Amino acid sequence: MARKRGEDSWYAEPKPPEVCVLCGREAPNLTDHHLVPKSQGRRQGVKLGEIPTVKMCPACQGYLSKTFSNSELANELNTVEAILAREEVQKFVKWVQKQPMTKGVRVH
Ligand SMILES: [Zn+2]
Repeated sequence: MARKRGEDSWYAEPKPPEVCVLCGREAPNLTDHHLVPKSQGRRQGVKLGEIPTVKMCPACQGYLSKTFSNSELANELNTVEAILAREEVQKFVKWVQKQPMTKGVRVH
């Protein structure tokens, strides 16, 4: 059955905004964060396409790679829950949530 062209036919369902899994901010430039760093996945025989990814803003991703080693990320922090359970991550998230998305957050 053809959809009736009503006066609202121009209206597209809005997509839910994508937000960073850590800080929950909407960001125009979210990136796919590999929960297991690619180099570690290779070492463990995991194919790149099988590594789960989550949407993360550049600030949070930069923070993780600066704060934790690849093996910590691969072995202990390979789920969002595990990452958010870290006290230092919670502190960072609280802080970064107050930063405007337009301001580049320098973590390096
Ligand atoms: Zn974030």
